[in-house]
Amino acid sequence: MKLFNKSLILLACLINAACSNADKENTEIVSYANDSHSYAKPSEAIAKHLSLDIVVDFDKKIVSGIADYTIENNGGNEIIFDTKNLIIHKATVDGKDVSFSLGADNPILGQPLSIPINNDSKLVSIKYETTDKTEALQFLNPQQTADKKFPFLLTQGQAILTRTWIPIQDSPQIRLTYSANVKVPKDLLAIMSAENPKAKNENGKYHFEMRQAISPYLIALAVGDLVYKEISPRTGVYAERSMIEKVHYEFADMEKMVKAAEALYGKYAWDQFDVVVLPPSFPFGGMENPRLTFATPTVIAGDRSLTSLIAHELAHSWSGNLVTNATWDDFWLNEGFTVYFEMRIMEALYGKEHANMLASIGRQDLTEEIEILKDKPEATRLKLNLKGKNPDDGMNSIAYDKGYLFLRTLEESVGRDKMDSFLKEYFNTNAFSTITTEKFISYLKNELLIKNNIEFNIDNWVYKAGVPNNAAQIQSDKFLIVEDAINDWKNGNIDENLLCESDWNIQQKIHFIRNIPIDISLEKFEALDNACGFTTAKNSYIAMVWYEQAIKHNYRKNAVDTQIESFLMNVGRRWYVSTLFKALVANNRIDEAKVLYQKARPNYHSVTVNTIDEMLGIN
Ligand SMILES: [Zn+2]
Repeated sequence: MKLFNKSLILLACLINAACSNADKENTEIVSYANDSHSYAKPSEAIAKHLSLDIVVDFDKKIVSGIADYTIENNGGNEIIFDTKNLIIHKATVDGKDVSFSLGADNPILGQPLSIPINNDSKLVSIKYETTDKTEALQFLNPQQTADKKFPFLLTQGQAILTRTWIPIQDSPQIRLTYSANVKVPKDLLAIMSAENPKAKNENGKYHFEMRQAISPYLIALAVGDLVYKEISPRTGVYAERSMIEKVHYEFADMEKMVKAAEALYGKYAWDQFDVVVLPPSFPFGGMENPRLTFATPTVIAGDRSLTSLIAHELAHSWSGNLVTNATWDDFWLNEGFTVYFEMRIMEALYGKEHANMLASIGRQDLTEEIEILKDKPEATRLKLNLKGKNPDDGMNSIAYDKGYLFLRTLEESVGRDKMDSFLKEYFNTNAFSTITTEKFISYLKNELLIKNNIEFNIDNWVYKAGVPNNAAQIQSDKFLIVEDAINDWKNGNIDENLLCESDWNIQQKIHFIRNIPIDISLEKFEALDNACGFTTAKNSYIAMVWYEQAIKHNYRKNAVDTQIESFLMNVGRRWYVSTLFKALVANNRIDEAKVLYQKARPNYHSVTVNTIDEMLGIN
């Protein structure tokens, strides 16, 4: 389906006798993809600008206020917004009260909010408040923060959670600009995916502007005792006081990353690139909210070893935020492109071998994901069909790592120069718009393959399960060294102390731990732990993969279970948490997992809770 179809005539013109012939000929109309995860009917009536006026109440743990929308009516007699678990107090159209209606509640989608409008309606105003069932908002008590003095609020909008804190047309293809007035307790600073304050003010009232049209899932808010430190005039970090210096050190290469990204695919479109490091319950590694990436503190390793996360979120400033998947079935267009771009930024900064190590880890993840999905092969296609499902189901290694592998294979087929000019033009041509898989394929055929007379099995990659035979081979020389060492260790040719003294980087250590042979003896496993101290590792990634192996190997020494428990109580990053619970379940420790989960669950964001609830069969 095409997003822009110039041959169509405005629906409004068809039903409105007053519409002139000139209008019919000159109006470019937008047609929309069918998004099964939104009730909105954008071809009838669409919101173009949101003006939000809200108060954050930490005592009641709610957000309340007014969402004003400037709308464009293309002939509808109602405008439909998505809502989920919101209380709607009142709706007005151009200042006059109207009777709105809320439709049937769907457990995934929530309820449609219909507001009657007429042909010349301009401004729709909705007074509302959130409830304790909100899935986007997470209110944290001081104990859950780094400084333990003040409460904290964070939001997570992707995929369809923005509707749980703002009534909105919550489809990625409905881009809008926004401004916001946000009132918070005066000890706290509010920041959004918009132009941001650099310091607190005295009255706790903050104003925000996002002048570029973005998808609703990218509207984000964080409130806490945050401070800012600049890295370069256009990059910087927000964090709690006790974290700010560490964060500033960790992400010192941010400006270099932006320059490298611009050199590849064109100018950074969002002026400012800041990162806020959140408390550990944040459910993702990072979230690419425009101008202000949200990040987990688990990447603050002290040695800048996990900063590919920042390259990833930065890459989303092009793939995702500038050119956006039209629906969640096209999610691979956001993530596959972003992983490809991330690897190119990492290569530009730290060399090809480093990028290949990262890509190899992703390749291994992909193999594991395909194995996990072996009874649902349709879920391993790039283009998904998530109708009736939670779009979160599509957020796995297929979109990311199979998407990457597709682009890497394409690059190897067409050559890097052609690939880069194609991608640069793709971002440029489609900037600030949304794209379906079908539109991308047609663009790829026309602009790259036919022009250069190149055959490529696109349909195989996009619409078929698994990994096609022509997939690029990813090889890392540094990982080959690790694999040799594993064999030598297994055969008794080198001992654990020697292994731990090697000058491997973090990725090599990760590769080593993830590939410890399953049949290694418990004695050797323990000797390795004693020599390397993995059970008490400070690096969260090392700790997580080691705990996974400890569970798989039924290793219970060195109080590793206590460490796992404390890790799961502290960290809410879904990837980490789900990896460990999955390992416990697979190794017949589900009862133990349930007891532990009951304790940890209140610390997790709803995104993580939903995943683990389902895994452990808890409703
Ligand atoms: Zn991403």
